[in-house]
Amino acid sequence: MTDVRDYGNWIDGSWVKTSGTVERSSPANGKLLARFADSSEKEVDLAVKAARKAFDDRSVWSALPGAERAKAISRWIELLVRDTDKLAKMEAEEVGKPIRFARGETEWSIELARYAAALAWQIPSDLVSNAGDANLGLVIREPRGVIAMITPWNFPLVTLFQKLPYALAAGCTVVIKPSELTSSTTLEIAALAKEAGIPDGVINVVTGSGSAVGEALTGHRGIDMISFTGSTAVGKRIAARAAEQMKRVGLELGGKAANIVFADADIDAAIDGVLFGYILNQGEECVQGTRLLIEEKIADEFVGNLVERSKKIRTGLPEDDQADLGALIHEKHMEKVLGYIQSGLDEGARLEVGGKRLTDATFGKGFFVAPTIFSGVTPAMKIFREEIFGPVLAVTTFKTVDEAIALANDTNYGLGNGLWTKDIDKAIQVSRELKSGTVYVNTFLETTVQMPFGGYKESGIGRENGMDGLLEFTEVKSVFVKLGKRAHALPHTAG
Ligand code: NAP
Ligand code: MG
Repeated sequence: MTDVRDYGNWIDGSWVKTSGTVERSSPANGKLLARFADSSEKEVDLAVKAARKAFDDRSVWSALPGAERAKAISRWIELLVRDTDKLAKMEAEEVGKPIRFARGETEWSIELARYAAALAWQIPSDLVSNAGDANLGLVIREPRGVIAMITPWNFPLVTLFQKLPYALAAGCTVVIKPSELTSSTTLEIAALAKEAGIPDGVINVVTGSGSAVGEALTGHRGIDMISFTGSTAVGKRIAARAAEQMKRVGLELGGKAANIVFADADIDAAIDGVLFGYILNQGEECVQGTRLLIEEKIADEFVGNLVERSKKIRTGLPEDDQADLGALIHEKHMEKVLGYIQSGLDEGARLEVGGKRLTDATFGKGFFVAPTIFSGVTPAMKIFREEIFGPVLAVTTFKTVDEAIALANDTNYGLGNGLWTKDIDKAIQVSRELKSGTVYVNTFLETTVQMPFGGYKESGIGRENGMDGLLEFTEVKSVFVKLGKRAHALPHTAG
């Protein structure tokens, strides 16, 4: 599709090369796509110093009027819009996802930035004016400082844009470590920020491995907060490291979302939602609807329909404009997904469709797995409990509302859940009892940028997006002001 891209790190507004590189080949056909700098502690230190300087010199960014930052972010957005096709193409190639979804991801990222830019105009603050005549309290919000952002490979742009524009709006500066598999778009958008007039040092990107670059960043004294999206295992490691220096953390981690379908649902809409929910992004999705909880009396017919629809899913190469499903991220990950499928068989679930790698001439050079549905899944099975991160759906039946809620909550994760019913009372009551940061009612994975996003339980700490997402990048400061006595009465001027 493209010539091989060759990148350095983006530090203090310039490209900085390293001696070693990491190569990224297409997960769909094996072709070499890009080389990224294989960085170490040294580059991390350079980038943190640049971000530190840009933050600490208050006149550069952190103490500008919010309106100035809003305008700079808005100029950057115009460039992102201009380059949408280019960014989407890179995203599709490196992740292995179909181009139309990569375009959708880019457009959604821009939407997130638009909202963040609007928020930059006015960050909430409070005044305590009733503490007596001689006292005044100011409760102000300051930017948190230099933020390390560490992001995963499944949605390189969206996971970054749930953080970056909000941190910028608040007045923070950042050092980003994208996944070594999908670093191109992060590097590109950082360079675009310079073109938009965002000052050097405000956005820095250091590429390379989690074990070298990630560890150096999380341990660096110049970092005030770590904002991480990725697996729960790495998230726990980061939280433990952050605790050593009491760094702030924002963690967006794994999930095991359920779609609960009640018999009184709009069945056609529910089938669409469940299908979309389990195959979107090849199932490499933290809020993937990987579990279907279906009311027993409609289960056979519903699953039968879902199986027929799954057979019609169009798998395609990244450039295929009509494709629904692309390649998994790399071979080892595909093996892991196939391992989960094997565990479903071993533990006695019923394979309804799929269950294998695609090996024909078109897909054999890549890492493609067919949409897979298991029925008869029980909560004890691995495919019910663990994050598979592939196009695999586990179906479990229930008889009562209470049973549906208990099954949905029977997980260590709590990122999102969906529920389908025409009974609005039931929808709201069940929503209240689901232990997840998001509940989708009669839809799935659909939201609006004003709404916060994040997890209960082991799905994370903190919220992204919306005003809550911006406030995560601020510290609260109380300024208590003792006022002098009123000096004297006004001179008597009358008559
Ligand atoms: P991952 O293995 O946890 O990696 C995420 C990022 O952390 C990568 O940039 C990785 O670098 C880096 N990293 C690895 N070890 C590190 C360490 N010791 N210190 C600092 N950084 C380290 O996750 P992934 O496999 O890329 O992504 C899949 C996971 O992300 C899934 O569990 C999914 O649920 C989760 N996710 C969550 C959300 C959400 O918003 N809640 C969104 C998307 C994905 P390398 O890639 O270079 O190793
Ligand atoms: Mg990894």
